Amino acid sequence: MKFITYNQKNFREIEYLRYLPEEEKTEIDIVSRVIPFKTNNYVVDYLIDWENYKNDPIFILNFPNRNMLTEEQYAQLSYAIQNAESVATVNQIIYDIRMEMNPHPAQQMTNVPMLDGEELKGLQHKYRDVILFFPSQGQTCHAHCTFCFRWPQFVKELDLKFSMREIDKVIAYIRKNEHINEILFTGGDPMVMDPGTLRKYIEAIIAAKIPHLTNIRFGTKSLSYWPFAFIPEYSDEGQEMLDTLKLISNSGMHLAIMAHFNHPNELKTEVLQQAILNLKACGAEIRTQAPVLKNINDNSQDWADMWKIQIGLGLIPYYMFIERETGPYEYFSLPIAEVYRMYQNAIRESGSFAKTVTGPVMSASKGKVHIMGIVKNPVNGDKYFMMQYVRHRDYTRTFKPFFMEFHDQATWVDQLTEVPLFSFAG
Ligand code: SF4
Repeated sequence: MKFITYNQKNFREIEYLRYLPEEEKTEIDIVSRVIPFKTNNYVVDYLIDWENYKNDPIFILNFPNRNMLTEEQYAQLSYAIQNAESVATVNQIIYDIRMEMNPHPAQQMTNVPMLDGEELKGLQHKYRDVILFFPSQGQTCHAHCTFCFRWPQFVKELDLKFSMREIDKVIAYIRKNEHINEILFTGGDPMVMDPGTLRKYIEAIIAAKIPHLTNIRFGTKSLSYWPFAFIPEYSDEGQEMLDTLKLISNSGMHLAIMAHFNHPNELKTEVLQQAILNLKACGAEIRTQAPVLKNINDNSQDWADMWKIQIGLGLIPYYMFIERETGPYEYFSLPIAEVYRMYQNAIRESGSFAKTVTGPVMSASKGKVHIMGIVKNPVNGDKYFMMQYVRHRDYTRTFKPFFMEFHDQATWVDQLTEVPLFSFAG
């Protein structure tokens, strides 16, 4: 199967766009100059219901629309483009809008580690037992999600990227830090790498025989956006990819795949199901995660369906996230309280194997904050959120419940104040 990619420049070649009025194509053209746009022939042919494109979750997931910018941002940019203002002017407007979109949420730039006085700009070391590795060749995806919190990775002009390719330095850093038991390949999407490149990284890590490094994890959306990558019958590189991944499980290490699915419609194709079987035959444990997104998966039924289908396919539901404060945040974000209620309804519907999900969770600057519940003072009726860190920069602060004041419309933990209702005694 040939991979055909569509971006801001050639998207009008997508045959199905005949369903869209010209005006909407112009809007895609304008907004996709700000929000990095990329899709491919699998997404377009297999995942989108074009006759109902306006409400189709995968269309919204891939195709930017004008409501993802503010009225003012859209008006300023479209005016500059349509009045043929200079390239420098248009680029400046695009840059300014992007900088208004909080390109690096949760202070990610502060987690860059040092090795012998050198900053390792392709690594993040936020939690003591896991190191995130951003291989240079994996800093794009098979398609781009319009809500993406890693979107600056795809923008050439934003000099804010993480990436590196010197695996020897990564290995040296891990060797020196004996608490690290896991390397997470991330991006972008590390599974966009050609298997030959991935193999060099994997072989080097296995050959290093670091006793405390026991897990290799991949954060990927390739199962959803290009499952052919794992099917030898459809792609020349499929067998090499599977053989490379098998090296990990054959070495005795845990091969963990964090698969990103936003909607049940991504889980229904035969191609995806074959790709899952092939990965599991390589010894992979596949866990799933995604944020709750207004306009895409903002109801408990979608989540219950997703988890039930995933469990049936042998996948392990893992994280339900609250959307991060970045990109077109107004378009996608939902109040914490609403997401919590959605989680409760969905998990009740999903059967015993769905208990593996932790949700809802916010990836905040200090760590991953889990919303455990909404509680009420029986005397005065005041409500509070009960939360805990399930990951924290300081691991001694994890799994200790705390209380935050309740606001029905708050969308992020920073909008709330901690309340000393009880102190943790265990
Ligand atoms: S697949 Fe992940 S990294 Fe890539 S665009 Fe989507 S959310 Fe971002």
